Amino acid sequence: MSSLEVTEMGEKKRQLSFAEKIRQGIVTVLHSGSGMNERPYLKKHNESNIPGFYIIGDLAGAPVIKYAMAQGYDVIEHIATLPGAIGGNDAELYDVIIIGAGAAGLNAALQAKERGMRYVMLEREQVANTIENFPEGKYVYAEPDSQPPKGKLWLDGATKEDLIKRWNQIVHENGLNIRTMEGVQTCEKKGGVFHIRTSKGAYRGKRVVLATGQRGNPRKLNVQGEDREQVYHRLYSPRKYKNENIIVVGGGNSAIEAAVTLSEQNKVYLSYRASEFSRIFKDNERKLNAAIAAKKIDPILNSNIVEFGEHETKIKINRGAEDEVRKIPYNHAFVLVGADVPREFLKSLGLRMENEWEGSILRTVGLTLLGFLGVWIFGAHNGGQASLLGFDLSVIPAWMAAVIWTFGLAGLIRFGIKGDRFAWLGLSFFVWYTVYGAKLGKGEEFWPYRDWGYKFLSFFDRPWAFWYTVMYTALMTIFGLQAVKRWGLDRKDKFQIWRYVSLLSFQWIFFFLIPEFLFQSAVKYQWIGEKLATDPTFADQAWRSYGLVYAWPLFFYTFFYNPHQVWVVWGVLLTFVIIPILVLFHGKRYCSWICGCGGLAETFGDRWRHLAPKGKTSIKWEWMGTAVLVVATLVTVLVLIKDIYGVFRDPADLGVRLYRLYADVWLVGILPVTLYPFLGGKVWCRYWCPLAKLMQMQSNFFARIKTSKFKITANDKCIACNECSRNCLVGIDVMSYALKQETLDNKTSSCIGCGICVSVCPMDVLSFSGGQRNGNSTHVQLLSATGEVLA
Ligand SMILES: Cc1cc2nc3c(=O)[nH]c(=O)nc-3n(C[C@H](O)[C@H](O)[C@H](O)COP(=O)(O)OP(=O)(O)OC[C@H]3O[C@@H](n4cnc5c(N)ncnc54)[C@H](O)[C@@H]3O)c2cc1C
Ligand code: SF4
Ligand code: SF4
Repeated sequence: MSSLEVTEMGEKKRQLSFAEKIRQGIVTVLHSGSGMNERPYLKKHNESNIPGFYIIGDLAGAPVIKYAMAQGYDVIEHIATLPGAIGGNDAELYDVIIIGAGAAGLNAALQAKERGMRYVMLEREQVANTIENFPEGKYVYAEPDSQPPKGKLWLDGATKEDLIKRWNQIVHENGLNIRTMEGVQTCEKKGGVFHIRTSKGAYRGKRVVLATGQRGNPRKLNVQGEDREQVYHRLYSPRKYKNENIIVVGGGNSAIEAAVTLSEQNKVYLSYRASEFSRIFKDNERKLNAAIAAKKIDPILNSNIVEFGEHETKIKINRGAEDEVRKIPYNHAFVLVGADVPREFLKSLGLRMENEWEGSILRTVGLTLLGFLGVWIFGAHNGGQASLLGFDLSVIPAWMAAVIWTFGLAGLIRFGIKGDRFAWLGLSFFVWYTVYGAKLGKGEEFWPYRDWGYKFLSFFDRPWAFWYTVMYTALMTIFGLQAVKRWGLDRKDKFQIWRYVSLLSFQWIFFFLIPEFLFQSAVKYQWIGEKLATDPTFADQAWRSYGLVYAWPLFFYTFFYNPHQVWVVWGVLLTFVIIPILVLFHGKRYCSWICGCGGLAETFGDRWRHLAPKGKTSIKWEWMGTAVLVVATLVTVLVLIKDIYGVFRDPADLGVRLYRLYADVWLVGILPVTLYPFLGGKVWCRYWCPLAKLMQMQSNFFARIKTSKFKITANDKCIACNECSRNCLVGIDVMSYALKQETLDNKTSSCIGCGICVSVCPMDVLSFSGGQRNGNSTHVQLLSATGEVLA
């Protein structure tokens, strides 16, 4: 039952029920990949979940004017190629309706005109309203400056006034069909046609391009007094304020620029909730430090506004053990904490957000269990266990198994298509549980598959474990080729091409061909010498060849069950000599160049890399790797004592059994792959892999004693587009390092050296130590919202 409680502030806040708290906790974890940057869900060519409805510009993640313009140009070029896109008998039906006359929308309208399309542009206020609202005299940068602007709209570095003048001139000269002061209120698709209603009229169109930006939706603090007339969420004329006490709230570039400009004629208090300004341009940091040194700005870090009073602002400052409340007299306040995606507006149009967690957890659990019940009944008729909670399942006819199974899985698919992401999660779990449940080995399969799954999934006299390896390698190869195209060939990036060649080669040679075929051939034809080939402790244990590349503690079995001394020597050499040397020179690149677990994540999991959990809490979760490493070490010690001294037999066997089940099956096998489409591909590698943690410790140590050769450095060209942070598979906020030109290594992060941040940066900001770029050093690329290369 939900209830209402009254907070200190007098606001009414709903108390969550236990079930709601559980749901909120689950959603918080699953949503952690979105970070601060929530975006609408987009497919290729910026098409939304509604066919024919496109989203471009700021709203689609274009961080600067030039990118927004490029998306406007490209979306029309794409639409123009579609069948029946231009013209028709219905004179009142537009080919395209463009909503929002900002950089993206204007360039789209110019291109639509160029292409001879019947179009109309609807603008809520005035042409280029966002830029009109920039502070007076603001210089507008035309970054990236090495990339010419696309389309007919003009762009060069200029004051906002000059830029607006040029744009209005272009609008006038081209006679663009723009309806200003006409905000779009509703949009419905009926019979394949979009029906749009504005504050003044109605329009019908074959396609819609939404370019409304997100600046019209400034983020609020939601504190008392925020709606007072002296509290603003924009700064328009900084020079207007003189000899005043001014509060600026925020820690991004807009807030810092405002604080610095206002401090020229006023006393400024800068309140920011974090302990440092970590996301600002180096130049802004310099100006801010100068203003602080000159006592023109008083920075109040770790602080939150409690209330804007009539003449005083109440600020709570976190001082560790206790909070201090400070009252500051003020004339004006500027809350510049960014803008929120206009979620409500987008949802009202029927649009879906990226990584949105709507739907029912309970229904998903129910349908997934039904799927498993169907499997269990089927098993009961095919040699599997018949009893479930004391009930004999074999009395239920086999055809009912098919009905129950279909009902469960078809239900998950149906609700998934309707937008319930929990349903997809349930389906993903069902698939990977099945894959692993049947893979464990004869009689060890998970319950619904026990005593029959192994047999049922053995084909051509080969066990399911073999077909699992085939499937794994096939998945890696198919999606690896896609990833090579996406990151290597399309970008002409040699570093990424070699990385994927390396990952695929290791998988094919060391994790498929050798353990499944070549080891046996080497024994049969005595390529390894007669002595070794005829020694049963070596020859009969092909599975140990995984230890050729998988080091302890990822593959601690190398040292277990009385191995041949060849494996012991190699295992020690690999873990304690080769890996540390690799780490010294390349950090944790083992994870992104060699390992099969990392390989599947970088290939099959690549399309979901932007969903990797982000933020400080997600970094704290990395402690789990240490826990797994400690347990793996304990189990290793126990087993070695057992093997050498013959004691601790039971605890050692139990330790291996439990570790095998929880780490090898659940943490490596079922959970990470289940979570690929929801938390990106690196859940195991980042949070649970004991070898990754060991390498992290070694690399951290080498960095601290300044011997590590691995680091990423940044130049001063960062435009804060966030592409690097968005695409980091281990959730590192690369942008904050880039903005401050700080070194990123394993002392400061858990980077695995994949180089995707270096590749994706449109400004060539990042490079590995020594200034080495990924292949092409001068090519600058524009990306679409879905990560395609635009230019
Ligand atoms: C303070 C600040 C400084 C910046 N400085 C720079 C810079 O120097 N260089 C740079 O390249 N970029 C800069 N940017 C980023 C730049 O402003 C954006 O990248 C760019 O404006 C995005 O263009 P857009 O067309 O997607 O959206 P916008 O320019 O925001 O245009 C959206 C338009 O849609 C209209 N609209 C909104 N809702 C509706 C509706 N319901 N119906 C109809 N119309 C609607 C709005 O009125 C607006 O005119 C800055 C941004 C800020 C906030
Ligand atoms: S910081 Fe860059 S190189 Fe390191 S893991 Fe993230 S994307 Fe890869
Ligand atoms: S370093 Fe990151 S945020 Fe900066 S320009 Fe490059 S990709 Fe964008």
